[in-house]
Amino acid sequence: MKIVTILGARPQFIKAGTLSRAIASHPSIQEVIVHTGQHYDATMSDIFFEQMHIPKPNYFLGVGGKSHGAMTGQMIEKIEEVLLIEKPDWVLVYGDTDSTLAGALAASKLHVKIAHVEAGLRSFNMKMPEEINRIVTDRVSTLLFCPTEVAVHNLKHEGFETFTCKIVQSGDVMYEGALFYRQYAQKPTLHVKNDFVLCTIHRAENTDDEVRLKSIFDALNEIAKQRQIVLPIHPRTRNALKAQKYQLSPNITLIEPVGYLEMIWLIDHCSLVMTDSGGLQKEAYFFHKPCMTLRDETEWVELVACGANVLVGANKETIISTFSNFMFKPKVANLYGDNNASTLIIQALVSYA
Ligand code: UDP
Repeated sequence: MKIVTILGARPQFIKAGTLSRAIASHPSIQEVIVHTGQHYDATMSDIFFEQMHIPKPNYFLGVGGKSHGAMTGQMIEKIEEVLLIEKPDWVLVYGDTDSTLAGALAASKLHVKIAHVEAGLRSFNMKMPEEINRIVTDRVSTLLFCPTEVAVHNLKHEGFETFTCKIVQSGDVMYEGALFYRQYAQKPTLHVKNDFVLCTIHRAENTDDEVRLKSIFDALNEIAKQRQIVLPIHPRTRNALKAQKYQLSPNITLIEPVGYLEMIWLIDHCSLVMTDSGGLQKEAYFFHKPCMTLRDETEWVELVACGANVLVGANKETIISTFSNFMFKPKVANLYGDNNASTLIIQALVSYA
Protein backbone atom coordinates (compact mmCIF):
# COMPACT_ATOMS: atom_id res chain seq x y z
CA MET A 1 0.00 0.00 0.00
CA LYS A 2 1.26 3.47 -0.84
CA ILE A 3 0.31 6.57 1.15
CA VAL A 4 1.13 10.13 0.18
CA THR A 5 1.17 12.27 3.32
CA ILE A 6 0.77 16.02 3.04
CA LEU A 7 2.55 18.12 5.66
CA GLY A 8 2.98 21.87 5.82
CA ALA A 9 2.68 23.39 9.27
CA ARG A 10 4.18 22.87 12.72
CA PRO A 11 1.30 20.96 14.32
CA GLN A 12 1.30 18.58 11.34
CA PHE A 13 5.00 17.82 11.74
CA ILE A 14 4.33 17.04 15.40
CA LYS A 15 1.49 14.63 14.55
CA ALA A 16 3.60 13.03 11.79
CA GLY A 17 6.34 12.48 14.39
CA THR A 18 4.11 9.79 15.85
CA LEU A 19 2.25 8.41 12.83
CA SER A 20 5.10 8.42 10.28
CA ARG A 21 7.30 6.61 12.79
CA ALA A 22 4.62 3.94 13.14
CA ILE A 23 4.07 3.72 9.37
CA ALA A 24 7.83 3.37 8.79
CA SER A 25 7.90 0.23 10.90
CA HIS A 26 4.96 -1.35 9.04
CA PRO A 27 6.15 -3.94 6.50
CA SER A 28 3.52 -3.35 3.82
CA ILE A 29 3.09 0.43 3.76
CA GLN A 30 5.22 2.81 1.75
CA GLU A 31 4.88 6.45 2.78
CA VAL A 32 5.77 9.32 0.46
CA ILE A 33 5.99 12.62 2.35
CA VAL A 34 5.15 15.90 0.67
CA HIS A 35 6.14 19.12 2.48
CA THR A 36 4.15 22.02 1.01
CA GLY A 37 6.44 24.68 2.48
CA GLN A 38 3.65 26.48 4.39
CA HIS A 39 6.01 26.67 7.39
CA TYR A 40 9.52 26.39 6.09
CA ASP A 41 12.21 27.89 8.29
CA ALA A 42 14.56 26.26 10.80
CA THR A 43 12.51 26.99 13.93
CA MET A 44 9.07 26.27 12.49
CA SER A 45 9.96 23.24 10.37
CA ASP A 46 13.50 21.73 10.20
CA ILE A 47 13.93 21.26 13.94
CA PHE A 48 10.85 18.99 14.15
CA PHE A 49 12.12 16.69 11.40
CA GLU A 50 15.49 16.46 13.17
CA GLN A 51 14.32 16.07 16.78
CA MET A 52 11.38 13.75 16.10
CA HIS A 53 13.14 11.64 13.46
CA ILE A 54 10.43 12.26 10.88
CA PRO A 55 11.51 10.78 7.54
CA LYS A 56 12.87 13.43 5.15
CA PRO A 57 10.17 14.70 2.77
CA ASN A 58 10.29 13.15 -0.70
CA TYR A 59 8.91 16.34 -2.22
CA PHE A 60 9.29 19.94 -1.09
CA LEU A 61 6.81 22.19 -2.89
CA GLY A 62 8.11 25.54 -1.61
CA VAL A 63 4.72 27.21 -1.42
CA GLY A 64 4.69 29.47 1.62
CA GLY A 65 4.20 33.04 2.80
CA LYS A 66 1.28 33.92 0.51
CA SER A 67 -2.41 34.74 0.92
CA HIS A 68 -4.78 31.84 1.65
CA GLY A 69 -6.09 31.73 -1.93
CA ALA A 70 -2.70 31.96 -3.65
CA MET A 71 -1.11 29.43 -1.33
CA THR A 72 -3.95 26.91 -1.50
CA GLY A 73 -4.21 27.22 -5.29
CA GLN A 74 -0.50 26.70 -5.87
CA MET A 75 -0.43 23.78 -3.46
CA ILE A 76 -3.33 22.05 -5.24
CA GLU A 77 -1.52 22.37 -8.57
CA LYS A 78 1.75 20.97 -7.22
CA ILE A 79 0.17 18.21 -5.12
CA GLU A 80 -1.77 17.08 -8.19
CA GLU A 81 1.53 16.69 -10.08
CA VAL A 82 2.91 14.54 -7.26
CA LEU A 83 -0.20 12.36 -7.12
CA LEU A 84 -0.09 11.77 -10.87
CA ILE A 85 3.51 10.55 -10.52
CA GLU A 86 3.09 8.52 -7.33
CA LYS A 87 -0.39 7.03 -7.90
CA PRO A 88 -1.00 6.36 -4.18
CA ASP A 89 -3.79 4.30 -2.61
CA TRP A 90 -4.37 6.97 0.02
CA VAL A 91 -3.64 10.62 0.67
CA LEU A 92 -3.20 11.29 4.37
CA VAL A 93 -3.89 14.79 5.69
CA TYR A 94 -3.79 16.21 9.21
CA GLY A 95 -5.83 18.88 10.92
CA ASP A 96 -7.07 22.08 9.40
CA THR A 97 -4.45 24.13 7.56
CA ASP A 98 -4.33 25.32 3.95
CA SER A 99 -2.03 22.34 3.25
CA THR A 100 -4.75 19.99 4.57
CA LEU A 101 -7.37 21.52 2.30
CA ALA A 102 -5.09 21.55 -0.75
CA GLY A 103 -4.16 17.90 -0.25
CA ALA A 104 -7.81 16.91 0.14
CA LEU A 105 -9.00 18.82 -2.93
CA ALA A 106 -6.19 17.60 -5.18
CA ALA A 107 -6.77 13.98 -4.10
CA SER A 108 -10.56 14.07 -4.35
CA LYS A 109 -10.51 15.37 -7.95
CA LEU A 110 -8.21 12.46 -8.89
CA HIS A 111 -10.45 10.00 -7.01
CA VAL A 112 -7.70 9.08 -4.57
CA LYS A 113 -9.06 8.04 -1.17
CA ILE A 114 -8.37 10.52 1.64
CA ALA A 115 -7.66 9.75 5.28
CA HIS A 116 -8.20 12.75 7.56
CA VAL A 117 -6.49 12.64 10.93
CA GLU A 118 -8.21 14.99 13.42
CA ALA A 119 -11.57 14.81 11.67
CA GLY A 120 -14.84 16.08 13.09
CA LEU A 121 -13.53 19.06 15.04
CA ARG A 122 -15.63 22.19 14.93
CA SER A 123 -15.35 25.66 16.44
CA PHE A 124 -18.61 26.72 14.74
CA ASN A 125 -16.85 29.96 13.86
CA MET A 126 -16.88 30.27 10.08
CA LYS A 127 -14.58 33.32 10.25
CA MET A 128 -11.70 30.99 11.12
CA PRO A 129 -9.83 29.79 8.03
CA GLU A 130 -9.23 26.53 9.92
CA GLU A 131 -12.99 25.87 10.25
CA ILE A 132 -13.52 26.14 6.49
CA ASN A 133 -10.52 23.89 5.84
CA ARG A 134 -11.68 21.17 8.23
CA ILE A 135 -15.33 21.12 7.07
CA VAL A 136 -14.40 20.79 3.39
CA THR A 137 -11.69 18.22 4.11
CA ASP A 138 -14.03 16.07 6.18
CA ARG A 139 -16.65 16.13 3.46
CA VAL A 140 -14.33 14.70 0.78
CA SER A 141 -12.55 12.19 3.04
CA THR A 142 -13.10 8.44 3.04
CA LEU A 143 -11.63 7.60 6.43
CA LEU A 144 -12.35 10.11 9.18
CA PHE A 145 -10.12 9.64 12.21
CA CYS A 146 -11.74 11.38 15.16
CA PRO A 147 -9.67 12.13 18.26
CA THR A 148 -12.69 12.48 20.57
CA GLU A 149 -16.27 11.43 21.16
CA VAL A 150 -17.40 14.99 20.48
CA ALA A 151 -15.76 14.89 17.04
CA VAL A 152 -17.67 11.69 16.20
CA HIS A 153 -20.87 13.33 17.39
CA ASN A 154 -20.25 16.42 15.22
CA LEU A 155 -19.88 14.29 12.10
CA LYS A 156 -22.98 12.24 12.85
CA HIS A 157 -24.93 15.41 13.50
CA GLU A 158 -23.89 16.72 10.06
CA GLY A 159 -25.14 13.55 8.38
CA PHE A 160 -21.78 11.89 7.69
CA GLU A 161 -23.24 8.46 8.43
CA THR A 162 -25.23 8.79 5.20
CA PHE A 163 -22.13 9.64 3.13
CA THR A 164 -19.65 7.22 1.53
CA CYS A 165 -17.10 7.36 4.32
CA LYS A 166 -16.14 5.65 7.55
CA ILE A 167 -15.86 7.33 10.93
CA VAL A 168 -13.23 5.87 13.27
CA GLN A 169 -12.73 7.08 16.84
CA SER A 170 -8.98 6.56 16.93
CA GLY A 171 -8.02 8.78 19.84
CA ASP A 172 -5.44 11.49 19.46
CA VAL A 173 -1.98 11.00 17.93
CA MET A 174 -0.84 14.06 19.91
CA TYR A 175 -1.53 12.23 23.16
CA GLU A 176 0.63 9.33 22.03
CA GLY A 177 3.34 11.75 20.86
CA ALA A 178 3.39 13.76 24.09
CA LEU A 179 3.83 10.62 26.20
CA PHE A 180 6.51 9.21 23.91
CA TYR A 181 8.62 12.36 23.50
CA ARG A 182 8.35 13.33 27.18
CA GLN A 183 11.18 10.93 27.97
CA TYR A 184 13.44 12.95 25.62
CA ALA A 185 12.32 16.41 26.84
CA GLN A 186 15.11 19.02 26.84
CA LYS A 187 15.39 22.09 29.00
CA PRO A 188 15.76 25.15 26.77
CA THR A 189 18.72 27.43 27.46
CA LEU A 190 16.98 30.10 29.49
CA HIS A 191 16.44 30.92 33.13
CA VAL A 192 12.99 29.95 34.38
CA LYS A 193 11.49 30.62 37.79
CA ASN A 194 9.65 27.78 39.57
CA ASP A 195 6.10 28.90 38.96
CA PHE A 196 6.47 30.35 35.46
CA VAL A 197 3.53 30.66 33.08
CA LEU A 198 3.91 29.28 29.54
CA CYS A 199 2.19 31.34 26.87
CA THR A 200 1.77 31.10 23.09
CA ILE A 201 -0.27 33.34 20.79
CA HIS A 202 -0.53 32.97 17.04
CA ARG A 203 -4.16 32.72 15.86
CA ALA A 204 -5.03 35.24 13.16
CA GLU A 205 -8.11 36.34 15.14
CA ASN A 206 -5.71 37.66 17.83
CA THR A 207 -2.63 38.72 15.87
CA ASP A 208 -4.51 40.46 13.06
CA ASP A 209 -6.83 42.38 15.38
CA GLU A 210 -4.96 45.30 17.00
CA VAL A 211 -7.52 45.73 19.78
CA ARG A 212 -7.53 42.05 20.78
CA LEU A 213 -3.75 41.79 20.61
CA LYS A 214 -3.23 44.91 22.77
CA SER A 215 -5.82 43.75 25.29
CA ILE A 216 -4.16 40.32 25.64
CA PHE A 217 -0.69 41.80 26.05
CA ASP A 218 -1.94 44.45 28.51
CA ALA A 219 -3.24 41.52 30.61
CA LEU A 220 0.07 39.65 30.25
CA ASN A 221 2.03 42.75 31.33
CA GLU A 222 -0.17 42.93 34.45
CA ILE A 223 0.22 39.21 35.25
CA ALA A 224 3.98 39.53 34.71
CA LYS A 225 4.10 41.78 37.81
CA GLN A 226 3.52 38.56 39.82
CA ARG A 227 4.84 35.73 37.64
CA GLN A 228 7.42 35.15 34.96
CA ILE A 229 5.80 34.47 31.58
CA VAL A 230 7.80 32.42 29.07
CA LEU A 231 6.57 33.15 25.56
CA PRO A 232 8.00 31.35 22.51
CA ILE A 233 6.93 33.84 19.92
CA HIS A 234 5.37 32.93 16.58
CA PRO A 235 6.72 35.03 13.66
CA ARG A 236 3.23 36.46 12.97
CA THR A 237 2.86 37.65 16.57
CA ARG A 238 6.35 39.14 16.60
CA ASN A 239 5.55 41.16 13.47
CA ALA A 240 2.20 42.32 14.86
CA LEU A 241 3.78 43.51 18.13
CA LYS A 242 6.54 45.26 16.22
CA ALA A 243 3.97 47.05 14.06
CA GLN A 244 2.20 48.27 17.22
CA LYS A 245 5.58 49.23 18.84
CA TYR A 246 4.30 47.36 21.89
CA GLN A 247 6.35 47.58 25.13
CA LEU A 248 6.60 44.25 26.95
CA SER A 249 7.27 43.80 30.66
CA PRO A 250 10.83 42.57 31.37
CA ASN A 251 9.24 39.63 33.24
CA ILE A 252 7.88 38.34 29.94
CA THR A 253 10.68 36.16 28.62
CA LEU A 254 10.31 36.30 24.86
CA ILE A 255 12.09 33.47 23.06
CA GLU A 256 12.24 32.18 19.49
CA PRO A 257 9.85 29.29 18.72
CA VAL A 258 11.32 26.17 20.30
CA GLY A 259 11.58 22.57 19.13
CA TYR A 260 9.09 20.00 20.37
CA LEU A 261 11.45 18.50 22.96
CA GLU A 262 12.01 21.93 24.55
CA MET A 263 8.29 22.66 24.34
CA ILE A 264 7.44 19.42 26.13
CA TRP A 265 9.93 20.38 28.87
CA LEU A 266 8.32 23.81 29.24
CA ILE A 267 4.80 22.35 29.48
CA ASP A 268 5.94 19.76 32.00
CA HIS A 269 7.61 22.38 34.23
CA CYS A 270 5.29 25.39 34.03
CA SER A 271 2.55 26.15 36.53
CA LEU A 272 -0.07 27.25 34.01
CA VAL A 273 -0.56 27.52 30.25
CA MET A 274 -2.11 30.48 28.45
CA THR A 275 -2.64 29.97 24.76
CA ASP A 276 -4.72 30.32 21.64
CA SER A 277 -3.17 27.17 20.15
CA GLY A 278 -5.31 24.08 19.64
CA GLY A 279 -2.60 21.52 20.30
CA LEU A 280 -1.24 23.21 23.40
CA GLN A 281 -4.65 23.17 25.11
CA LYS A 282 -4.53 19.37 24.99
CA GLU A 283 -0.87 19.09 25.91
CA ALA A 284 -1.56 21.15 29.06
CA TYR A 285 -4.23 18.59 29.99
CA PHE A 286 -1.94 15.62 29.20
CA PHE A 287 0.56 17.03 31.70
CA HIS A 288 -2.08 18.07 34.27
CA LYS A 289 -1.51 21.78 33.84
CA PRO A 290 -4.35 24.31 34.02
CA CYS A 291 -4.99 26.11 30.75
CA MET A 292 -6.51 29.51 30.01
CA THR A 293 -7.51 29.71 26.36
CA LEU A 294 -7.23 33.13 24.76
CA ARG A 295 -10.14 32.55 22.39
CA ASP A 296 -13.91 32.89 22.45
CA GLU A 297 -14.50 29.26 21.57
CA THR A 298 -12.58 26.01 21.29
CA GLU A 299 -12.83 22.79 19.32
CA TRP A 300 -11.67 20.91 22.42
CA VAL A 301 -14.89 21.49 24.37
CA GLU A 302 -14.41 18.44 26.60
CA LEU A 303 -11.50 20.24 28.29
CA VAL A 304 -13.74 23.13 29.27
CA ALA A 305 -16.52 20.77 30.36
CA CYS A 306 -14.18 18.87 32.71
CA GLY A 307 -12.69 22.00 34.26
CA ALA A 308 -9.19 21.67 32.81
CA ASN A 309 -9.54 24.68 30.55
CA VAL A 310 -11.21 28.08 30.80
CA LEU A 311 -12.08 30.21 27.78
CA VAL A 312 -11.05 33.78 28.56
CA GLY A 313 -11.18 35.38 25.11
CA ALA A 314 -9.14 38.55 24.67
CA ASN A 315 -10.65 40.68 27.42
CA LYS A 316 -7.99 42.14 29.72
CA GLU A 317 -10.10 42.11 32.91
CA THR A 318 -11.38 38.56 32.33
CA ILE A 319 -7.86 37.29 31.72
CA ILE A 320 -6.48 38.92 34.87
CA SER A 321 -9.34 37.87 37.15
CA THR A 322 -9.38 34.29 35.82
CA PHE A 323 -5.63 34.09 36.34
CA SER A 324 -6.06 35.06 40.01
CA ASN A 325 -8.91 32.63 40.70
CA PHE A 326 -8.38 29.66 38.41
CA MET A 327 -8.35 26.26 40.04
CA PHE A 328 -7.51 23.20 37.97
CA LYS A 329 -10.12 20.53 38.55
CA PRO A 330 -10.31 18.00 35.74
CA LYS A 331 -12.64 15.16 36.62
CA VAL A 332 -12.29 12.95 33.56
CA ALA A 333 -9.42 10.81 32.35
CA ASN A 334 -8.75 9.33 28.90
CA LEU A 335 -10.52 12.03 26.91
CA TYR A 336 -8.11 11.42 24.02
CA GLY A 337 -8.04 7.65 23.79
CA ASP A 338 -5.77 4.91 25.02
CA ASN A 339 -2.38 6.03 23.72
CA ASN A 340 -2.75 3.79 20.63
CA ALA A 341 -4.10 6.16 17.97
CA SER A 342 -1.37 5.36 15.43
CA THR A 343 -2.06 1.61 15.71
CA LEU A 344 -5.80 2.10 15.20
CA ILE A 345 -5.23 4.44 12.25
CA ILE A 346 -2.87 2.02 10.51
CA GLN A 347 -5.22 -0.92 11.13
CA ALA A 348 -8.15 0.97 9.61
CA LEU A 349 -6.10 2.02 6.56
CA VAL A 350 -4.81 -1.49 5.92
CA SER A 351 -8.16 -3.21 6.44
CA TYR A 352 -10.32 -0.72 4.50
CA ALA A 353 -12.12 -2.64 1.77
N1 UDP B 1 4.96 24.20 19.74
C1 UDP B 1 6.33 23.98 19.65
N2 UDP B 1 7.16 25.06 19.78
C2 UDP B 1 6.70 26.32 20.01
C3 UDP B 1 5.30 26.52 20.09
C4 UDP B 1 4.46 25.45 19.95
O1 UDP B 1 6.78 22.86 19.48
O2 UDP B 1 7.50 27.25 20.11
C5 UDP B 1 4.06 23.04 19.59
C6 UDP B 1 3.00 22.87 20.64
O3 UDP B 1 3.51 22.22 21.77
C7 UDP B 1 1.95 22.05 19.91
C8 UDP B 1 2.06 22.58 18.51
O4 UDP B 1 3.32 23.23 18.40
O5 UDP B 1 2.29 20.68 19.88
C9 UDP B 1 0.95 23.54 18.27
O6 UDP B 1 1.14 24.18 17.09
P1 UDP B 1 0.42 25.55 16.77
O7 UDP B 1 0.12 26.26 18.04
O8 UDP B 1 1.26 26.23 15.75
O9 UDP B 1 -0.91 25.09 16.05
P2 UDP B 1 -2.34 24.63 16.52
O10 UDP B 1 -2.20 23.51 17.49
O11 UDP B 1 -3.03 25.81 17.09
O12 UDP B 1 -3.00 24.19 15.25
